[in-house]
Amino acid sequence: MTRTVYVNGEYLPETEATVSIFDRGFLFADGVYEVTSVLDGKLVDFAGHAKRLERSLGELEMTNPTTESELLEIHRELVARNGIEEGLIYLQITRGAADRDFAYPEDAAPTIVLFTQAKPGLADSPAAKAGIKVITIEDQRWGRRDIKTVQLLYPSMGKMMAKKAGADDAWMIEDGFVTEGTSNNAYIVKDGTIITRHLGTEILHGITRAAVLRFAREAQMKVEERAFTADEARDADEAFITSASSFVMPVVEIDGSAIGTGKPGPVATRLRDIYLDEMRKAAV
Ligand code: PMP
Repeated sequence: MTRTVYVNGEYLPETEATVSIFDRGFLFADGVYEVTSVLDGKLVDFAGHAKRLERSLGELEMTNPTTESELLEIHRELVARNGIEEGLIYLQITRGAADRDFAYPEDAAPTIVLFTQAKPGLADSPAAKAGIKVITIEDQRWGRRDIKTVQLLYPSMGKMMAKKAGADDAWMIEDGFVTEGTSNNAYIVKDGTIITRHLGTEILHGITRAAVLRFAREAQMKVEERAFTADEARDADEAFITSASSFVMPVVEIDGSAIGTGKPGPVATRLRDIYLDEMRKAAV
């Protein structure tokens, strides 16, 4: 089936959608993105993604070609046209096409692209029941990980390192501390306390992270936002990750050693249930 995608103001069949070879997203990875999940045909935490998009664009002095309400309309239109019940919407905005030059061009019009990915079974995922395995790797990404740019080559390399090691993902380590997963935020649970790295330029400020920490605090769970080591993770009672596409996903093994019982723990399981319930209710 041919998807309908959105490119620079037009809804087109995916086979007819094009972007210039001079686009700075292609030449310089000069672009930002968001991934919003769809549950029951509705958008999960759209406002959170729209807000972070504005922040990423602002940090790169890039202009947003749409207003938030236009963006919401485009998301909804794509969900409707492609009949998405469960899945994802990918949005990318780049600085646009211009003659190749490191300095930002003054007159380039931003490029905006959106497409859907159907993912039946996203919420009822077998991985969430079994838990995933992670390895640790050195964090060799650039220093502004708080900006959600499309330079995702190191995270791709990390995912491949994990695959080759028979694991599902990699947690990245910098100066002895875990920063985050290749495409998710990382958490451990020790003696009932949820521990996850504090916000800063070292990690992406996950939209799911913000929601999950809010729900955890509302449920009277203890939360500590601080850096933790891979050794602490190995000794933890539980571990999990969060992202817009995995929600809350238990982690049951790190570098070949089982975490806790080696099965998804009660805190991760409860947070996943709360997150999915609350976000389904609030979805637009
Ligand atoms: N960290 C990184 C490096 C990511 O790529 C992602 C997902 N894009 C996240 C964290 C999770 O962010 P969110 O919850 O907003 O999807």
